[in-house]
Amino acid sequence: MKMKISRRRFLGVGGLTFSVAMILPHVAFAARNALRSMRTGVQPGNKTRLVIETSARPSYSLSYPENQLVVDIANMSADASVKPTLASGTLVSAITQTQSGDHLKIIATLRKPISQLQKSQIMLLEPNGDNDYRLVLDFSAGAAQKIADSVAAGANMPKAAATKHVIVIDAGHGGKDPGCIGKNGTREKDIVLSVAKKLRSKLDAAGFKTFMTRSDDTYLKLARRAEIAEQKKGDLFISLHANANPSRAVKGFSIYTLSEKASDEEAKKLAESENAADKIGVDGFTEFERDIRAALSSLQQHAVAEMSEEYANGCARAFRSNKIEAQAGPSVRHAPFAVLRSTVPGALIELGHLSNASEEKLLKSGAHQDKLVAAIVRSVKNYNFDV
Ligand SMILES: [Zn+2]
Repeated sequence: MKMKISRRRFLGVGGLTFSVAMILPHVAFAARNALRSMRTGVQPGNKTRLVIETSARPSYSLSYPENQLVVDIANMSADASVKPTLASGTLVSAITQTQSGDHLKIIATLRKPISQLQKSQIMLLEPNGDNDYRLVLDFSAGAAQKIADSVAAGANMPKAAATKHVIVIDAGHGGKDPGCIGKNGTREKDIVLSVAKKLRSKLDAAGFKTFMTRSDDTYLKLARRAEIAEQKKGDLFISLHANANPSRAVKGFSIYTLSEKASDEEAKKLAESENAADKIGVDGFTEFERDIRAALSSLQQHAVAEMSEEYANGCARAFRSNKIEAQAGPSVRHAPFAVLRSTVPGALIELGHLSNASEEKLLKSGAHQDKLVAAIVRSVKNYNFDV
């Protein structure tokens, strides 16, 4: 008989907690859960990920003794043959196993204290492919409040202050670089700054923590913008632009994510023209060569790319449901945009075409800018920051 009991199922609303033992009689012949693997890795935003793989769905609890994160799994025996795989650059310096009656305590020794994990930092993944059940815990160093030993996650604990997700808003161009210019003289740098400021106040009001790469009419190199996303430990990076097309009939929004190869010729040309902003700087192209994302493992790069893709698709949906006209062709495309070269997931949004007379007028209007901002706020709220 397989005990398919997840601890989390018993963590009801309102902080009501039952223990498995209270509900089930001790089942002596229950198949034991087996430890398969333990590993750590670095996640975007300088987070540490601890993954514990088990043969059956784990019934677990978490506790936080000083400088430790302890995962207590029921119905499991220590297995010395399972050695932890520890990535460098994480908060975990060692992982050991200790048997405690019928429970196995997996003890991660931490380099810095952490706060009690929130539900959004805990994932339990079903088996797939070569993997069994995986308990995935994401955390970063935090001003930990004093947390008593051996308290189950989700129990009646004072709630740690909810961590705010960090959104870095990048208004494209600025200063000596006007971006593209509409037929009636509207400058891209002014439109995107205006939208960026509105976006900032709406996201602040919605409970996010925001930073702007520029908040006035200054010139900023693309690599510097990506660097700010890193320094602010962004969870999401949103670069705002407006487009121009040789054909004045072309209009509509489009959204881009980073890839080494452009998805189509138009995306390639656009990346070249947006990247050319750096040519205006005296230092030329040198900083381009420093690709932060290239320093990540291919798995991590893949994770950032997937998160960016997920955000971009959600953003395109939000634009469409807010009745903002899309450019013909796919709404989400890919190209090697320099500004997106960081470990922070994100997208570059072309809000519309300044080269189209009717859209130039729209982009200048406060009402339309509010509509664009509402769509972006919606896309940020809908984005799943935790997977
Ligand atoms: Zn631009």
